[in-house]
Amino acid sequence: MVKLLELFAELKLSALYKNKNKISTYSSTGKCLCDIQSIHQCLQEMISPETFDIKERNILNLVNAIDIEIGSKKEIKEECNSCNNTTTNDTTNTTYNCNLIQNDQLLLDEIPAELQGLDYGIYPNNQLIYNDLRFVYNKLLNYFPHAIFYPRCEKEISYLIQNFVINKAEFAIRCGGHAYEAASLSSGYILDVKNMPGYIKISKDRKTAKISSGLRLGYVIQKLAEYSLITPTGENSCVGISGLSLAGGKGNLTRLYGLTCDNIVALKMINYKGEMIKVTAKEYSDLLWACKGAGSGNFGVITEFELKVYEDVYCQFETLTWEWNAEQAIEIFILYQETILSFPNTVSAEFNMTYNNGIASFKIKFIKLDQSPLVESKIFEKLYNPTITTCSGYYSKITDCWVDYEKGKNPPFSKIKSSMIFKPLQKKGIELLVHSIDIYLKKGFSLNYQLNFTQLGGEVVNGHSSYFPKNAIMVLSYFMQWTYPEYTDDSKLFLKKLYQKVLPYTSIYCFPNLIDYDIVDYMEKYYGENKKKLVKIKKKYDPFNIFKYRQSIR
Ligand SMILES: Cc1cc2nc3c(=O)[nH]c(=O)nc-3n(C[C@H](O)[C@H](O)[C@H](O)COP(=O)(O)OP(=O)(O)OC[C@H]3O[C@@H](n4cnc5c(N)ncnc54)[C@H](O)[C@@H]3O)c2cc1C
Repeated sequence: MVKLLELFAELKLSALYKNKNKISTYSSTGKCLCDIQSIHQCLQEMISPETFDIKERNILNLVNAIDIEIGSKKEIKEECNSCNNTTTNDTTNTTYNCNLIQNDQLLLDEIPAELQGLDYGIYPNNQLIYNDLRFVYNKLLNYFPHAIFYPRCEKEISYLIQNFVINKAEFAIRCGGHAYEAASLSSGYILDVKNMPGYIKISKDRKTAKISSGLRLGYVIQKLAEYSLITPTGENSCVGISGLSLAGGKGNLTRLYGLTCDNIVALKMINYKGEMIKVTAKEYSDLLWACKGAGSGNFGVITEFELKVYEDVYCQFETLTWEWNAEQAIEIFILYQETILSFPNTVSAEFNMTYNNGIASFKIKFIKLDQSPLVESKIFEKLYNPTITTCSGYYSKITDCWVDYEKGKNPPFSKIKSSMIFKPLQKKGIELLVHSIDIYLKKGFSLNYQLNFTQLGGEVVNGHSSYFPKNAIMVLSYFMQWTYPEYTDDSKLFLKKLYQKVLPYTSIYCFPNLIDYDIVDYMEKYYGENKKKLVKIKKKYDPFNIFKYRQSIR
């Protein structure tokens, strides 16, 4: 593949225009390869057909991969069939189908009087803003809500809830919009907590912090850092504190301090009556337990979290990266999964295999949360000459080492699946996963495919929360991200089939925060033996089931 990429680079493709099945490519020599046949012919001149099976799709993907590799300016336009409008994703500068709404008046006419004309509402006739705000992180999710509301205080949330109920209107609650499925989207209404007053108040004893629910992780991490405090969260700066905390929340500090949901001490919530309640271990203790792991969009609108916070710790990161070699990946993964079982809670390691636009690699990221030498990585350093990068310092002071600031690099479309792993994988299961990367190397598609094993255990086991798979040693996530709509079906089907094949080696349980609408029996797979208790609590605190989405508690 690398050789092939080099050949393409030699061709010095400098511009590319793609529209449906017709592509035109211009080489820097000025020669125009105006259709798929001429590119095909050109490739055949360069590559022996025995070594590479040239198919239209492969050519297209390789051209795209080269385009990304050599950093040439890419101009891609997808025209929307229905309206010929386009919209631009500001994170990737990629233009993708938007299907701008054709008749906004139809939606406007259906809005009850009480919900019309609110100055914190964005309505479909405000097309440009509306069309931007109706999307979330995963641009596959294409919903046309009647309105998107950004309440600025608890009173406005109460008003909305009461009027949704009176008018039997469907709605979804949204914070960071980083759910992988449409859990925070609706064709009814969206209640987004983003514009609620943002604050972080540290308790006098520095043991807890009250955090308003509309904040994103980047802000929370940076603000706590100003006080030399930390709390276990994920690493992506744009993920919302609400969605992350309510359905798990795994990250670098998980094995030392538990999941984010384990660290929730209290909540403020607007319930189904539109009343604000304080959910603590003394009052509504069953509801607090339920929200810690199963709280996303299920029981009410959370307006404030009280989270445990911790004094800053010294930490050491070490990442070992290997060029792709399937046999070596299998050998090192077997060693990885045996070795991590004896790690103290201060150490964790994540194993990752990545295919990215024609190039694959695998790596292990070690994190040690004290000053003693990081010995756990030594045995791996000696194997097959990995590239080693390190970073150390006080955790809150070296955020650049670990926070993913999500600046314009993510393809717009994505799909995730997850499996909880309770005992080391058998070799056959590992081989299936490793060879799935080989399959993508052969396909040569221009997309990002990752298999991540995040080590769990440690304090997670002791968490007093409704998060179920506490004894899992790892969570495996299958993740695909792509730019071109024509990859959608293929990518989703590939993950689905792989997940099924590997299932006998993992477990039926999934990580609730990595929401996956393919899962039919989701109550069992997210909540296991807690499901009955959760249904009981749901009926008690949301008796008319107004807080619902496709995988809500029922
Ligand atoms: C790029 C990326 C990186 C990620 N990294 C991690 C990671 O490191 N660790 C990890 O554990 N997870 C991670 N996730 C998964 C993430 O935690 C979940 O997708 C989470 O649900 C996102 O929360 P949100 O508020 O951004 O999403 P949203 O889509 O806004 O909401 C998600 C769910 O929470 C509900 N909800 C939102 N706000 C409220 C509220 N105020 N009250 C009640 N319910 C509410 C919504 O209704 C929805 O059901 C990542 C996801 C992405 C896309």
